[in-house]
Amino acid sequence: LPQRQFRVFFIVMAVVVAAYVLRSALYFVVAYWGHTFGIRVEADIRRDLYRHIQELGFDFYDRNRTGQLMSRLTSDLFELTELAHHGPEDLFISLVTIVGALAVMFTLRWELALVLLVLLPVLLTMALRRRRQMSAASRAAKVKTGTINAAIESGLSGVRTTKAFANEEAQQQRFDEANEVFKTAKRGFHKEMGRFNAVMEFCTGILPVAVIAVGGWLIMGEKMDYVDLITFSLYVTAFVSPIRKLANFAEMFSNGFAGLHRFVELMATEPSIQDAPDAADLTGVKGDILVDVNDVSFAYGEKAEVLHNVTLHIPAGETVALVGPSGGGKTTLCQLLPRFYDVDSGKILLDGQDIKSLSRDEVRRNFGMVLQDTWLFSDTIMENIRYGRLDATDDDVRQAAAVVRADDFIREMPQGYKTTVNERGGSLSQGQKQLIAFARTLLSDPRILILDEATSSIDTKTEKLLQDGIQALLKGRTSFIIAHRLSTIKNCDRILYIGNQGIMEAGSHDELMAKRGAYYELYTAQARDQGMGE
Ligand code: ADP
Ligand code: MG
Repeated sequence: LPQRQFRVFFIVMAVVVAAYVLRSALYFVVAYWGHTFGIRVEADIRRDLYRHIQELGFDFYDRNRTGQLMSRLTSDLFELTELAHHGPEDLFISLVTIVGALAVMFTLRWELALVLLVLLPVLLTMALRRRRQMSAASRAAKVKTGTINAAIESGLSGVRTTKAFANEEAQQQRFDEANEVFKTAKRGFHKEMGRFNAVMEFCTGILPVAVIAVGGWLIMGEKMDYVDLITFSLYVTAFVSPIRKLANFAEMFSNGFAGLHRFVELMATEPSIQDAPDAADLTGVKGDILVDVNDVSFAYGEKAEVLHNVTLHIPAGETVALVGPSGGGKTTLCQLLPRFYDVDSGKILLDGQDIKSLSRDEVRRNFGMVLQDTWLFSDTIMENIRYGRLDATDDDVRQAAAVVRADDFIREMPQGYKTTVNERGGSLSQGQKQLIAFARTLLSDPRILILDEATSSIDTKTEKLLQDGIQALLKGRTSFIIAHRLSTIKNCDRILYIGNQGIMEAGSHDELMAKRGAYYELYTAQARDQGMGE
């Protein structure tokens, strides 16, 4: 302006305005495309992870809790993708700003620039250390926050039990304790946050002071004029945000890599049950399926053996009942047949072929299971039944429901088959859920059927009605039935009494009664109780 170069001045101003317009446009690109990119990475990783852990076997789910896996699939990925899209951006912007500003400063006054160059690493290290402390505190707080989430979760899911025992006060106390822990953990975090902010403020404030001090000294020695110092001070403010960004970046980097490590670790977990490379298909052999069990022993992980030297031969179409005390291993035996777990020794043969040599999916397709604790997805009843055979028509679904006597109660529901089952199957009784499970399994038309205490939660009257349905289900199939009410399995072709030593007795009802062993004891005890009840 003193040289009256007005034209140049306005050109420079116009260029600056244009640069700001460009800058804001680029900010949009960074915010929008950057996040879109991050989300894509996250979605891809999540898809791969979900596919992978879905492949993992029962043993994996015995070891890992659903809650933990949930966070692996959701919040854990956040830090990884955060690094993937903010990382390069932060690093690039701050490096360019710092290098650019330093270059300009060196051409202005190299002495002052040198001061900054020396100070910068020192300040960065200080900021970084505080930032690390802060996130360590943040992680600790997160763990503690997990405790309160668990307290809320368990409190709310068990609220009916709490009320039944009128234990609201005690429950409230437990909750208050967890809440207190949460408060102290948060206090620790906020203390570290305060320290970090204090150090950051100091670092960014001290830079101009150092420049002015050294610059002032230079001016006193008449080695510099004050215009240079003012220009210089303007450049120094450009350092503030890159320092913050770099501290963040270092932090993001270590968190992101920790996330990546957890991801890779999970992806590297091999499914315990895999197809042999030359796994044979079972298709086409839909007719006679024999189940043969030779000398099978099995233990869960490192625990004591549940089954020891079990040998069985079940011809196609036979109905076998498994009875015996709880914890004897009935469920375990039934889970070995579809290869949910691999046997430790011995062999299970299907149609004369070792199931380990067959394709896992093919083996399982031949099995249908109804368990005591039925899982219904949060979807309509129609879709829950159709889960048995995904390409079944609505009519197929209704037919299957009718066969197992589920049709009547479903029709009476407000929206019939379109009624949505909520999370815990809340609107349905345990027995009704069971009937839906029967319909689902009937629809899947398995060659081998496993009913694991499937009728335990159905009342005796409905069970009698259901008997026709069950008979329809059993017809032409090899079946395994685990039941506590012995009256329901009396007519099975064969009854196995499974106790602590594996199969202790085997034979038809009449044979076992004649033998006067464990089964006889159990049956007469039940018959006596029932006699008294009526
Ligand atoms: P049943 O069905 O006859 O009541 P189970 O087959 O369920 O008996 O259980 C047999 C034994 O195996 C029990 O001692 C039980 O504690 C143990 N068990 C069952 N399931 C598992 C599992 N997933 N992990 C470890 N141990 C298990
Ligand atoms: Mg069981």
